[in-house]
Amino acid sequence: CGIVGAVSTRNIVPILVQGLQRLEYRGYDSCGVAVYADGLKRARSVSRVAELMEQVDAEKIAGGTGIAHTRWATHGAPAVHNAHPHFSHGPGADAATGAGRIALVHNGIIENHDELRAALQAKGYKFNSQTDTEVIAHLVDSLYEGDLFEAVKAAIVQLHGAYAIAVFCKDEPHRVVGARAGSPLVLGVGKDENFLASDAMALAGVTDQIVYLEEGDVVDLQLGRYWIVDRNHKPVQRPVKTVQAHS
Ligand code: GLU
Repeated sequence: CGIVGAVSTRNIVPILVQGLQRLEYRGYDSCGVAVYADGLKRARSVSRVAELMEQVDAEKIAGGTGIAHTRWATHGAPAVHNAHPHFSHGPGADAATGAGRIALVHNGIIENHDELRAALQAKGYKFNSQTDTEVIAHLVDSLYEGDLFEAVKAAIVQLHGAYAIAVFCKDEPHRVVGARAGSPLVLGVGKDENFLASDAMALAGVTDQIVYLEEGDVVDLQLGRYWIVDRNHKPVQRPVKTVQAHS
């Protein structure tokens, strides 16, 4: 039900978790965070965001690139294995044996998840959850050829339904890609760092420079630069607005 993402040179885990706390008002049944730290690291909880924070502290999860999520389950019961972020480990690998390559969070509903799942299973992808979201993670992985922005653009044209997503890949550790269609997503512009959130409020105290992404937009976040394309994948400039922080 809420998304936060970040690319920075500082540890962004506190920003991600505090962002989730600012989105708690939307309601949720589970929450989770994933970062890049010599590979993909993740913590997930069916309890409150405060409990996720304790888990992150205990497991010393820290990194400069990451995504976080509060989930309102639509497909798959509220349970840790269904909580986001979802990982893709590549075809043939599963959560027990594979090293995660793609990490993804999603708000919304993918209507054609059954047919996409069947096609991905035929390619050897193993599913570890009952969510519609895990399909997107494996789909992005199946289309990944070294450029996450291209892989996400290729994946979303196959999705029917509503989504805001945030994705990163262990092979491009200073990059997060976001996309929206039917669910809200904003870009927060910082100095040499960039952020994503489903509501500008989640970034209060982090940045007040906000770009409201439009329907169909895909955004590429890196350190000190970002890039947006519209629903036709044409490069676009969107206005950067100064948003009053409410804490
Ligand atoms: N459909 C997804 C799920 O059930 C995302 C739900 C949400 O928007 O939080 O996991």
